[in-house]
Amino acid sequence: MGRGTIGCTVRFDTDAIRAAAADLSDRVRDHRRAIHRHPELGFAEHRTAAYVESVLAELGLPSRRVVGTGVVAVVRGDGPGCVGVRADLDALPVTEAPGRDGYRSQVEGVAHACGHDGHTAMVLGLAELLVRADRLPGTVALYFQPAEEGPGGAAPMVAAGVLDDPAPSAVLGVHVSPRQPTGVVALRPGPSTGSDDAFFIDVIGKGGHAAHPDSAIDPIPIAAQVVTALQQVLTREVDPVRPAVFTLGVIRGGTRHNVIAPSVRLEGTLRTVSQADRERLVRRVAEVARGTAATHRAVAEVEHRRGYPVGVNDPDLTALVTEAARAVLGDRRVVALPDPSLGGEDFYAFGDTGLPVTMFTLGVADPAAGRAAPLHSPDFDLDEAALPAGVAVFGEAVRRVLVASTVGT
Ligand SMILES: [Zn+2]
Ligand SMILES: [Zn+2]
Repeated sequence: MGRGTIGCTVRFDTDAIRAAAADLSDRVRDHRRAIHRHPELGFAEHRTAAYVESVLAELGLPSRRVVGTGVVAVVRGDGPGCVGVRADLDALPVTEAPGRDGYRSQVEGVAHACGHDGHTAMVLGLAELLVRADRLPGTVALYFQPAEEGPGGAAPMVAAGVLDDPAPSAVLGVHVSPRQPTGVVALRPGPSTGSDDAFFIDVIGKGGHAAHPDSAIDPIPIAAQVVTALQQVLTREVDPVRPAVFTLGVIRGGTRHNVIAPSVRLEGTLRTVSQADRERLVRRVAEVARGTAATHRAVAEVEHRRGYPVGVNDPDLTALVTEAARAVLGDRRVVALPDPSLGGEDFYAFGDTGLPVTMFTLGVADPAAGRAAPLHSPDFDLDEAALPAGVAVFGEAVRRVLVASTVGT
């Protein structure tokens, strides 16, 4: 087979999966660095997708393109089950901090600051592990999706039919985390990431002279009331044990200290971990903005852009992945993730179809080596020593889902 592959057949049991993942560590690191050096933004992951295709081709795996830069490959085994594994390809418009000898971003202003290079490298490692398996007890579909950082590539891939043939019974994902020690896996059943809706609100009054507010409709104090009214909706209308947040990232209006502005623009994001809260708050944000503006003779024009769904990890599937992680990593390197995050995650578009999905987080922090910066920071870097753990967890979880499918028929 291809250059530099591990080259030998491996048994497909827990011990062999753990050993094969360790054997693949150099390969996975090389994939990560190759991708890291050439980061690309959402739906422009041309070089990254071509790299993925070339690695899959080396392994003898046919792949196909979907939605431009998405790549799907299928590893066919012997058994009725099918499970999906997802990675994301895109980087961020971030200028990487100095350092990273040998793998620094070659693209000014773009960097893999969210660790998606690591995700793709791990799933390529998994592909190699699966190809080497002496008897794979079912089929594994690998989804390399574009544009996780927005506008989202998972929903378009689902709409393009990637879950139709072969049809997986579950989809697995991973995200690296600099908040966990390296190689430690954390999981959480149930709500895990936030819905992520954007709002663009124009409070439209009537411009005029600063000395004559009575002949104008000043949108600035009205916008200020909209801001506080929206905060009040969040604190008074949502069960306080369920997190929800409405953050306004933009407030813009006016041109001069002595001129009443004609309008004020507010831009914000609404995050919840409950679909019911989300639907209600989407309605209430618009109602409250319009109502507050109307009370003061202004008009609020509200545009809502629907973003990622609430991320819910299927409890049974999460339990299976937890056991798989314990089997390959040991109990001490598997922990419960205590709280959901209000960060949005496109992966859950695969679960929006009703399919059980779960995403585990893989610790990549190595503070002693200076690797502890948060995701999306110019300083973010991941500890590559963690990557084989992710490959092993994927391998063992895939095995367990496929074996369970065999037993279930
Ligand atoms: Zn991100
Ligand atoms: Zn990410």
